[in-house]
Amino acid sequence: APVQLVEETPWRWRIDRAGDMRVPGIVFASRQLLPTVAADQSLQQVVNVATLPGIVRASYAMPDVHWGYGFPIGGVAATDVADNGAVSPGGVGFDISCGVRLLVTPLDRAELGPRLAALMDQLELLIPKGMGKGAVWEPAGDAELRRVLTEGARYAVERGHGTARDLERCEDEGVLAGADPDAVSERAKLRGLHQIGSLGSGNHFLEVQVVDRVYDENVAVAFGLHPGQVCVMIHSGSRGLGHQVCSDHVGRMEAAMGRYGIHVPDRQLACVPVRSPEGEAYLAAMAAAANYGRANRQLLGEAARRAFARAVGTDRLEMLYDVSHNLAKLETHQVGGRPCLLCVHRKGATRALPPGHPDLPPALGPVGQPVLVPGSMGTASHVLAGDPGGEAFHSTCHGAGRLVSRTVARHRVSGSALRRQLARAGVEVRAGSDRGLAEEAPTSYKDVDAVVETVELAGLARRVARLVPVGVIKG
Ligand code: 5GP
Ligand code: MN
Ligand code: MN
Repeated sequence: APVQLVEETPWRWRIDRAGDMRVPGIVFASRQLLPTVAADQSLQQVVNVATLPGIVRASYAMPDVHWGYGFPIGGVAATDVADNGAVSPGGVGFDISCGVRLLVTPLDRAELGPRLAALMDQLELLIPKGMGKGAVWEPAGDAELRRVLTEGARYAVERGHGTARDLERCEDEGVLAGADPDAVSERAKLRGLHQIGSLGSGNHFLEVQVVDRVYDENVAVAFGLHPGQVCVMIHSGSRGLGHQVCSDHVGRMEAAMGRYGIHVPDRQLACVPVRSPEGEAYLAAMAAAANYGRANRQLLGEAARRAFARAVGTDRLEMLYDVSHNLAKLETHQVGGRPCLLCVHRKGATRALPPGHPDLPPALGPVGQPVLVPGSMGTASHVLAGDPGGEAFHSTCHGAGRLVSRTVARHRVSGSALRRQLARAGVEVRAGSDRGLAEEAPTSYKDVDAVVETVELAGLARRVARLVPVGVIKG
C-alpha cells in the first residue's frame, strides 16, 4: 500500500506510526514537490528507518529526498546512544563526508570578463576529474596517509596546502575527532592513496558561479557575498576510500546484527548499537574517511586558487564554509526536556547550526552556519543559513535532489548536445565523460529554487543568496 501522508502544515507531512515503527515519519515538502517525494520508494524508506533501535522523535525526509541504499538520500535520523541507539552505515552512505565548500573571490563577473575561458583551461588542467587516476597530491606512504586519516584538512594545511583561516571555516575545523586509521582496511587505504585531491564521478564538480540574487542583505554581508560576485563551489567526498569503508562495515554489521537481537525490514539498514565493538569500529573508520574527504576538498580548493592565480592574477579565494552532507555524528540535543547524546545520521542532508550555536566560529555566531545547496550545472545553487527554529536536529536539504535515474537521464539527452545547450545559456562545461554529463542533465534534478523555498517556509533554514553557474568542471 502507498505510504499515507497526513498534512500538518503546507510544508510538513506526517506518516503515523504503524507496525514496527518506533517514531512517526516527518516529510518536508510543498504541495508542488509532493509528487517528487512520492515518485520512488523513498517514503517507504522513511518508514523503514523509523524502526531503527533507539530512534528518537521522528524519521525525517527533506524536500530533496529520493531513493538511496537503505536510508533515503535526504534523510535524517537520530538514535539515543544510552538507549541502545544504533548506528547504520546506510544512514551515512557510500561517499562518507561527501560535502560542499564555497570560496568567494574579490572579482565581479564583469571583471572576470573574457578571461573565463582561460580560467576554465587552468581549472581543467589542475583539477583531476572522472574516475581515472591522478590527484593533486599523493601521500608518501602509509605513515603519511595515516596522518590524513587522523588530521584531515588540518594536515593538508600543515603541509602547506592552505591557511589557518581556511580551517576556521570548516565544519569541525577540518578534523573529525575519533578517527582510527587501524579501523580502515588495507584495501580501503590502497584505494585512497592515489586519489587525494580529485573530484570523482559525475555528480561531483567544481563550479565557477556568480551571485545573482541576495535574499537577506545582513547575513549576505556577514558571509562576504554581494550580487555579481564570482564564487567557486566544490562538491566532492572521500572517493574510493570512503566507499570501501562503507562496504567493509556493512558486511561486518550484517553478520553481527543478530547477536544484538536487531531485526530490520531491509538488509541495507544493517546496524548495530553505537556502544558495541562493531559500532565503535565503524564510527572510528567513518571519521577517518571523513577526514580524508575534508583533506580532499582542501586540496581541490588550493588547486582552484592556483588556477585563478595563473588565469586572472589573484589567488584571493576566501573560504565561506565547508560542510558535509553524508555523516553520522555524536551530538547532544534536548529530547523530552533534557540533554541527550544522540547519533545523528544525515544522509544527503546538511547540518544547519542556528545563530548563537557554540560550535560556530566567532564571525558566524551572530548569523548562523552557512548551508551550501547545489542545484545543477544548468540551474541555480543556494547559500542558506541555519534557522533558530530549525528542527530535525539542526538539519536541512543538501541539493535539488535527483528526479530521474541516471539510466533514464542518459537516454534522454546526449552529452554533446547538452554541452552545446549549456554553452548557449552561458555555461562553459568541461566534463570527464559525455555519458556522465548526460546523467547530470539539469532536467534530472528537482527544482532547487522550490526545494530551498520549502525548507525556508518549513523553518529549517533561511535563504541568503542564489548563485548561477558560468563554468563547470564535471567529474
Ligand atoms: P549528491 O551528493 O546527492 O550526489 O548531490 C547533491 C546535489 O548536487 C544534487 O542533489 C544536485 O542537486 C546537485 N548537483 C549535481 N550536479 C551538479 C552540478 O554540476 N552543479 C551544481 N551546482 N549542482 C549539482
Ligand atoms: Mn558524493
Ligand atoms: Mn554529495
